Amino acid sequence: MTLTAILEDIADEFRDVSERGVVANYIPPLACVDPTKFGMAVVEADGQIHTVGDADEAFSIQSISKIFGLTLALDAIGDALWTRVRQEPSGSAFNSIVQLESEYGIPRNPFINAGALVVSDVLVSHYGVQEAQQKILDLVRPLTRDAKNIVIDRNVALQEKETGFRNAALVNYMRTYNNIENPIEKTLELYFHQCALTMSCHQLAEVGAYLMTGSWNPITGRQVTSTLHARTIMALMMMCGHYDASGSFAIRVGLPGKSGVGGGILAIAPGVASVAVWSPGLNEYGNSLLGTRALERLVQRTGWSVFNAY
Ligand code: GLN
Repeated sequence: MTLTAILEDIADEFRDVSERGVVANYIPPLACVDPTKFGMAVVEADGQIHTVGDADEAFSIQSISKIFGLTLALDAIGDALWTRVRQEPSGSAFNSIVQLESEYGIPRNPFINAGALVVSDVLVSHYGVQEAQQKILDLVRPLTRDAKNIVIDRNVALQEKETGFRNAALVNYMRTYNNIENPIEKTLELYFHQCALTMSCHQLAEVGAYLMTGSWNPITGRQVTSTLHARTIMALMMMCGHYDASGSFAIRVGLPGKSGVGGGILAIAPGVASVAVWSPGLNEYGNSLLGTRALERLVQRTGWSVFNAY
């Protein structure tokens, strides 16, 4: 069976499913997204692209963007990053504050909000708020053949700011431990704009291909980051990419993956494929319900789990 046929099978299976999870409702632009949307895209190592459903519709990638912020921060300051954020699973919700007190303001990993806020702070120190946003766009756009609607949605960023009290609390709290260097408004501004990055599954799967190749842009042949950084990011995706559901994602899907509250997931089969899926309804952990299930099906059919021994 071809990969396109497998994707069509998966989309067919989910077409009439009634239990689709709950769409994020903390800001109107996310709350009003049609919960029946479903798209999936796969970029294979040889460059072939397969898509199904709403794979060309742009959506808010939210926390998937933490991958790109992390890539830039590692390129900017290298291992010094690990003095400010750890490399361990948290076992807590994405926006949790509980561990910060016992761990002296050092977040467990760069994919929970606290850790991603530290990453944003690093980028603000290094580049400033405006240039860092441009750096994010300059990182992702050359990775796709058609980058025209890859944008930072200013309305989403503004609404994130207006409702982002928990993120403000996290930054303020870490600042009391001197783990935030910049005025909190600047660090938050970059974080909210990064979260507001918008693209389609088709584009996201292409963008993610630099992790699949171990750091190379398959289109230009240029190196995007170091091979060590790509490996580090994928290890963190495996351990921390789905917050307190990362363990079950690793068991069910067996690929490094990163979710966002917009309902997207990027999953990487190293050396084999870059996969993006979008279904806006979330499970109780804030990860796409059908997106996770779709990746589980794909891996069952292709044998792409990194834990496959045969
Ligand atoms: N903008 C969201 C937040 O900071 C991102 C969270 C997510 O996608 N898990 O709360």
